[in-house]
Amino acid sequence: MRKLFGTNGVRGILNKSISVETLVRLGYAIGTYFEGGRLLVGMDGRIGSPIAKEATVSGLLAAGCEVLDLGLAPTPVIQYDARFNEVDGCVIFTASHNPPEYIGVKVCGSDGVEIPREGEEKIESIFFEGSYKLAEWDMVGRVRNVTGSIERYIEAVIRHVDRHLIAKHRYRVVVDPGNGVSSLTIPHILKALGCEVYTINDHIDGRFPGRLPEPSEENLSGLIKAVKVFDADLGVAYDGDGDRAVFVDEEGVFHPGDRSLALIEDYVMEKKPGAILVTPVSTSQVVDDIAERRGGRVIRVKVGSVDVSWAMKKLNAELGGEENGGVFYGLHQPVRDGGITTVLILHILAVRDMKLSEALSMLPVYHIIKRRVQCRDEFKHKILSILEEKVKDIGIKVEKVDGLKIWLDNREWVLIRPSGTEPIYRVIAEAPSYERAEKLAEEYTKLIIETARSLSG
Ligand code: MG
Repeated sequence: MRKLFGTNGVRGILNKSISVETLVRLGYAIGTYFEGGRLLVGMDGRIGSPIAKEATVSGLLAAGCEVLDLGLAPTPVIQYDARFNEVDGCVIFTASHNPPEYIGVKVCGSDGVEIPREGEEKIESIFFEGSYKLAEWDMVGRVRNVTGSIERYIEAVIRHVDRHLIAKHRYRVVVDPGNGVSSLTIPHILKALGCEVYTINDHIDGRFPGRLPEPSEENLSGLIKAVKVFDADLGVAYDGDGDRAVFVDEEGVFHPGDRSLALIEDYVMEKKPGAILVTPVSTSQVVDDIAERRGGRVIRVKVGSVDVSWAMKKLNAELGGEENGGVFYGLHQPVRDGGITTVLILHILAVRDMKLSEALSMLPVYHIIKRRVQCRDEFKHKILSILEEKVKDIGIKVEKVDGLKIWLDNREWVLIRPSGTEPIYRVIAEAPSYERAEKLAEEYTKLIIETARSLSG
């Protein structure tokens, strides 16, 4: 079966791996899937996004869809506005954290949640079979602009926290949107919460001149420096489309996304014992420790925000989260949302009257090491079954939610997983000590390389 959708929508480089013609036909296919319904569209600040939007929208209109155009906005704003506009679905033009040359198309339902995998497969089969239903000449759709979305979103986010308590602390916050669209919302949200706001890389620029759109530690040296220079209480950085947030504490120390997730989890489960966190198999076991401490539950799913959102909907879960800084807050919307993540962290600091470093130091410490191993797509499946055979007697158990997760003991695991989007295998190892995690990552990387060699040789 040929594929269009990866882990997170359709992605490609305009005029190279994805053409305008493809986007128009994708518009036909999406329009056919929604039976010519009413769709909300919006985009990130990438150079190719306006072209991607115009091309796809042409296809949607030809398929008889009515299109509401929200314009430039963070992904969670577009998702949040779906219900307000009573649409049948949304189409969001974003390549999230990918390098600047990429564009992307993400399809969501009437509640703003990405359509399930089966929906993506349906669109793919309409696309590849060419079984579009195009409208008669006088039944094609029209575009209408939507206003007020950003303001609605900002209000909605603030409603979830104690704004007066946060305002009393007059937090000094450095914001790094990384030249992405979260500069449209975050500084305004923080000002409404009485924060003193400093920004870097805050003009929207699809070339991402300030830093790459992925908010990883190596891309955030500017933010780390700025937190110290401005003597701030914390720094926060977003990916290109603003659905993920990661934090730097008052000492200028970067914290991986699963640490801030665990802090939010601790707060949610303290408030509501028995609360559920949905998270992929790759997230640190720190979330299991917190759930045990607070009497909550952790449900593990495949890697990817679609799987987290759908499990949350099914279980009516309070919280979802990923190690990359994606936090899904059920009371707001079951999709990842950098705005709600930011205000929840401020709320927790205000309620506990703690510095960020102090609040995070209450969490158990683990070390995660990640590796990538090149592997041709055609071998991926074969390698996985050979590895499965090789590891079945190692450790105390093997889980197969996504790839193979081998538990060496109660506190050490290795996850080996073929990437859904690139010709690579990912190896993630976690242990209480850095040295041990590194040793495990090394060992299992070698195992994959040897297995691949035995196949191609
Ligand atoms: Mg994103």
